[in-house]
Amino acid sequence: MIITSLSMRQIFDSRGEPTIEITATCDGISARASVPSGKSRGRSEVSVFSIAEAYNALPRVSKYVVGYQFDSVRAVDERMNAADGTSDKSKLGGNVMLGISMAVSRLFAEHSGNSHWSTMRREFFPEMKDGKNPIIFSNLINGGAHAKNNLEIQEYMAVIRTKNSYEESISRLITLYKHLGESLARAKGSSGRAPIGDEGGYAFDFRDNFEPIEFLSEHIQGDGMSGFCSIGLDVAASSFFEEGKYVFDGIARSGEELLNIYAEYFKKEKLLCTIEDPFAESDPEMFSALSRVIDSKWVVGDDLTVTNPLFIKKYGEARSINGVIIKPNQIGTVSEACDAIRAARAHGMKVIISHRSGETEDPFIIELAKAAAADAVKIGAPTKERMVKFNELIRLYGSS
Ligand code: PEP
Ligand code: MG
Repeated sequence: MIITSLSMRQIFDSRGEPTIEITATCDGISARASVPSGKSRGRSEVSVFSIAEAYNALPRVSKYVVGYQFDSVRAVDERMNAADGTSDKSKLGGNVMLGISMAVSRLFAEHSGNSHWSTMRREFFPEMKDGKNPIIFSNLINGGAHAKNNLEIQEYMAVIRTKNSYEESISRLITLYKHLGESLARAKGSSGRAPIGDEGGYAFDFRDNFEPIEFLSEHIQGDGMSGFCSIGLDVAASSFFEEGKYVFDGIARSGEELLNIYAEYFKKEKLLCTIEDPFAESDPEMFSALSRVIDSKWVVGDDLTVTNPLFIKKYGEARSINGVIIKPNQIGTVSEACDAIRAARAHGMKVIISHRSGETEDPFIIELAKAAAADAVKIGAPTKERMVKFNELIRLYGSS
């Protein structure tokens, strides 16, 4: 396939921040993709260009891509990486390169007349068979960098296993989200609109970091969902790690003290099943220590691993984590995100394909989850702009 043009336009993400949408064309066929953005970013994520820088970079990248024959997405990504030549994609821009990579990936599908997920599977996961329904991680209560409340923990998620139909699971999730909102408004004495965080979850102040877990658990049980719905946390602990201490519930604590708090949480609340970034990315030994204590649960890396196959391998070998978040814009191309998924699998980790806090309406992560037969997708609350992802789940998996 010869790529005949690349163009760009500015759009706005779910936080109202500007981001980019790329269109790639070939023989009159075109494909579009847009790039999300994160607020609680890992230190080693690839660079993000401003809109002005991105407009500036596009002709420089196009020089290496437009007018050339390519047989695969990887070939395009390799050519862009060779032209960039930096470890953090700071010459051509990680967001620019990812937008091109995603749009070109869709263009290959359009060109061949096949679905995007099956085209990605053929190139990156040819050995994969269908048969697995990804678990949904849906963030219902927001704290940390995503909210203006007093919670250190960033995300309190409903974790939903779908056996039969996604229509039914998502409809139950929406009911849970509404009931939770009503009872939080009552309990917190709020009469106006509930405060909402960056990922659509409720953002009230709470007694402490455990209270949201109590609320969620009560509602999951009250709505009769405990057979297929549990609770997950994304602590995003780098955001409250200061001078070697974790400032949590108003007290500066050592890593061991925080570990004991988590162990207590898991003992007290049986529905709690996963914890992401429980410690700062600069404190990987504590991930391993926690993994030894709660070895039947998922201990997940995000800021720790930043979708980088080398970090995933390192922390897989050290048994620091048994699950990993995959966010294509942390690494900056589709093929490298797929390499990260393969590295996670090679180390027996659960694969969770994730949105960012600043989302667009692009359903790419669901297509990638289907292509890779991922264990889970992390989407945010079932509301507004994020419904595109939920609806894509229904479209791709339907009533299975
Ligand atoms: C996360 O930390 O998992 C997340 C989705 O947030 P952000 O996009 O702000 O990194
Ligand atoms: Mg995270």
